[in-house]
Amino acid sequence: MSSNGNHNLHIFFFPFLAYGHIIPTVDMAKLFAEKSVKATVITTPGNAPFISKAIEKAKTNNNEIQIQTIEFPSAEASLPDDLENIDSIPSPDLFGAFFMATTLLQEPLEQLLLKQRPNCIVADMFFPWATESAAKFGIPRLVFHGFSFFSLCATTCMGFYKPDNDVSSDSESLVIPNLPGEIKIARMSLRPYGRSQATGFIKLLAEAKESELRSHGVVVNSFYELEKVYADYFSKVLGRKTWHIGPLSLCNRDMEEKANRGKGASVGDHECLKWLDTKKPKSVVYVCFGSTVVLPDSRLREIATGLEASDQQFMWVVRKRKEDGVEWLPDGFEKRMEGKGLIIRGWAPQLLILEHEAIGAFVTHCGWNSILEAASAGVPMITWPIFADQFFNEKLVTEVLKIGVPVGAKKWVGVEGDNITSDVVEKAVKTITIGEEAIDMRNKAKELSKLARRAMEEGGSSHSDLTTLIEELTSLAF
Ligand code: UDP
Repeated sequence: MSSNGNHNLHIFFFPFLAYGHIIPTVDMAKLFAEKSVKATVITTPGNAPFISKAIEKAKTNNNEIQIQTIEFPSAEASLPDDLENIDSIPSPDLFGAFFMATTLLQEPLEQLLLKQRPNCIVADMFFPWATESAAKFGIPRLVFHGFSFFSLCATTCMGFYKPDNDVSSDSESLVIPNLPGEIKIARMSLRPYGRSQATGFIKLLAEAKESELRSHGVVVNSFYELEKVYADYFSKVLGRKTWHIGPLSLCNRDMEEKANRGKGASVGDHECLKWLDTKKPKSVVYVCFGSTVVLPDSRLREIATGLEASDQQFMWVVRKRKEDGVEWLPDGFEKRMEGKGLIIRGWAPQLLILEHEAIGAFVTHCGWNSILEAASAGVPMITWPIFADQFFNEKLVTEVLKIGVPVGAKKWVGVEGDNITSDVVEKAVKTITIGEEAIDMRNKAKELSKLARRAMEEGGSSHSDLTTLIEELTSLAF
């Protein structure tokens, strides 16, 4: 028995197969393992190597954390063999098939449960069937939400009231009914219009909401002080039994741990960090659209032109499906920007970049991990949502927390349709870096960064919730 009495508690952590879900789930497993819980991360063989790298440090600290793999049913789902992570999807048309294929993971999960029965499964919200699997084995299932309370409340309110029937055009805004704060959003930001997989995806979201109600409770990667009103609304008004235990990224205290998340490499291999060391505090704008978004060349060109016109230093992470020449950059761009701007083609050590003192602002697609990481590092944002919860997260950042400026993107997967030209990018970069408004947003972000760290410390709101959760699971198990 360990000093806090949790020695025998064993939890399965089962993330959805995307970096944006695996990264916080692995952080969560590490956090539980630090509390003497035996943590097992369930994943597929293709995702195991980088998870293994991410937990190396935790293991050397004698925490009980391991990986169990189950086969991904590529052939059964008629998907390419090596497609085990959303990141490697060759075409957006395969998203629907990929989501549907993950439902085939239920059977191998249950076979694993037959062999080793944990005391609890913390499974991603995109695995609604995990509630049923856990019930078959008489163990509690917790839903993991890598989403903000704000977006969880907003999507639930939308689901109840279907207000989009009340507006006459896609560009018209509607007030999210009953959501505190009178938040308005354009109908075209709410769902993937005109895509063949939309119906399947909307059905999956409905199943996820439903399984949330049947599960033992909900674990959210957020902290109370960041979105109090919405955390309370989610638990007290919408009635979810909730524990908030974030920001999970803060469980990585060591530089190597921070560098090794996702597809990262060792600190020394990241030249971009050395580049940042040469820059003045708050002088660089970091641009990154997460792990799955691939922008069309036309949009990359507008970003490049806007960054150059803003006259600010920048570090820009560019993802492309295939390298198709350099037409996406204006003529002579890289030569002109030498020393002033750095383009990273591939994976960036985002946590270390955001925490670097040279970073003054972040252009983000509003993935929840990115926003939470920026808020924890005290970095104000330019928000450019592309799809999913990103439009809701933008509202939280710009209208509730007031630590960001929007570029004005409105349409779900609408990078071609939105008129976001270089002058819009230039104006947003200037607004977030120069003048009174910029100082005000930076100060607010700094304050949030302090609150985030406090939440994770002994006695802080997230630390207390984690302790309560472990106590409850222990009492259920023994
Ligand atoms: N990330 C990173 N380097 C990259 C791209 C992404 O470290 O080059 C990490 C980022 O820090 C975050 C996650 O990948 O933890 C992306 O999650 P997010 O929710 O922001 O967006 P998604 O990729 O799910 O759209």
